[in-house]
Amino acid sequence: MDPPREKWKNKFNEWFREVIYKAEVYDYRYPVKGIGVWPPYGMKIRNNVISILKDLLNQTGHEEVLFPLLIPEEILRKESEHIEKFEDEVFWVTYGGRKKLERKLALRPTSETAIMEMLKLWIKDHTDLPFRIYQIVNVFRYETKATQPMIRLREVTMFKEAHTAHATMEDAEKQVRSAIEIYKKFFDELCIPYMISQRPEWDKFAGAVYTIAFDTLMPDGRTLQIGTVHNLGQNFSRAFEVTYLKPDGTHEFVYTTSYGISERVIAALIAVHGDDHGLVLPYNIAPIQVVIVPIPYKGTENTVFELCNRVIKVLKEIGLRVYLDDREDITPGEKFYYWELKGVPLRIEIGPRDVANNCVTVSRRDTLERKVISIAEIKTKIPELLEDIRRNLRARARKWLQQHTFFSEKLEEAANIVNNRKGIVVVPWCGDTDCGLNIEDSLEGSVLGIPLDLEINVKGKRCIMCGKEAKTVIRVSKTY
Ligand SMILES: [Zn+2]
Repeated sequence: MDPPREKWKNKFNEWFREVIYKAEVYDYRYPVKGIGVWPPYGMKIRNNVISILKDLLNQTGHEEVLFPLLIPEEILRKESEHIEKFEDEVFWVTYGGRKKLERKLALRPTSETAIMEMLKLWIKDHTDLPFRIYQIVNVFRYETKATQPMIRLREVTMFKEAHTAHATMEDAEKQVRSAIEIYKKFFDELCIPYMISQRPEWDKFAGAVYTIAFDTLMPDGRTLQIGTVHNLGQNFSRAFEVTYLKPDGTHEFVYTTSYGISERVIAALIAVHGDDHGLVLPYNIAPIQVVIVPIPYKGTENTVFELCNRVIKVLKEIGLRVYLDDREDITPGEKFYYWELKGVPLRIEIGPRDVANNCVTVSRRDTLERKVISIAEIKTKIPELLEDIRRNLRARARKWLQQHTFFSEKLEEAANIVNNRKGIVVVPWCGDTDCGLNIEDSLEGSVLGIPLDLEINVKGKRCIMCGKEAKTVIRVSKTY
């Protein structure tokens, strides 16, 4: 069964809010605007996602750190472009008890400035480079746009920010490419399809030389930014005077990068795979990978439960997260509904007939197809099925993104695609900033940037706005 995305187009928000609440992933009833709570089930999903990300970072030379939540005002103000952009979004701590503080303290909106302040003390010599750290923390932003659970928050609780320092711009460029590879692997693990674009000048990270972003397409036809990679050049190191001693005895400012991912990735995971029944989780994310529902009839309880326990033992031995739903107060049908809502990839039903035939009935969450597997095959067939579900989720999500990506050279046609939220439109562009801003106005969408994952040939093509020779193409869509 394919997710009924077209059907949701106009009620996606409603579906999303309902499913995260009912499946107990995220509770948005906390009485502060733009702030939510992770209940136990959501926390397990979150931890599984974090663990994949941490592994990828740890394997590529990054070390975990923890910086303070509070940043003194004068430090936040050191890089002028940076503060200019964040000024309107910062939460300030101005009181300690009843006493007004002499220096205002910001709740970190991101940690570049706090980290640079310490790098100045930590980095001395060229042998200290490259330097790669990351932390997974909460950050605060006073969002003025309509807040959305997991998507547009005032407290982002799962901000993974990596920060690196290098001896040369070339090394920083190399790190940017490496970060892109890490993120590709990460999103592939989550089966989330993505587009990689270099953000236009007017939409890069405040203080960056350039920003590369990952976007995915949500069921309502709007794109969601799910990851960013910034090359900061020497902008921050100059402001914070972070230098290193070169082998020739001279000092130079370091080159830095930073890259981030947040719980938006979990919102995307839920949105791109979910269906009318609720969550659909890839097995590496699912807190419970296989749920066993016994269907005993009077007099067969013993043999049915005996088989359930045998199956659990086999699955636990191969390292799967299995759960036996032996609740007596609800029917098997209600249990099916419950675990489908929770997104458990595989359900095994065991009744007297299965006992008699020495087999089990397996139902897969992605397609809701059922089939019978003999007990002897469980050990090999269940892991195969789990992997097959993941392959299917990845393939169908990717296909949907491709089907909703259009190329257009006509302004009216492109505007129609964006306005009716049909997806992403790729249009030829002359490269001029004013012209780019006009494209945003005319199409009533946002320029995601120049695609880094598409073959671009603009020979003979004209800018969709001004008609001058096109230098490249850009992606445009409605965004979150
Ligand atoms: Zn133009």
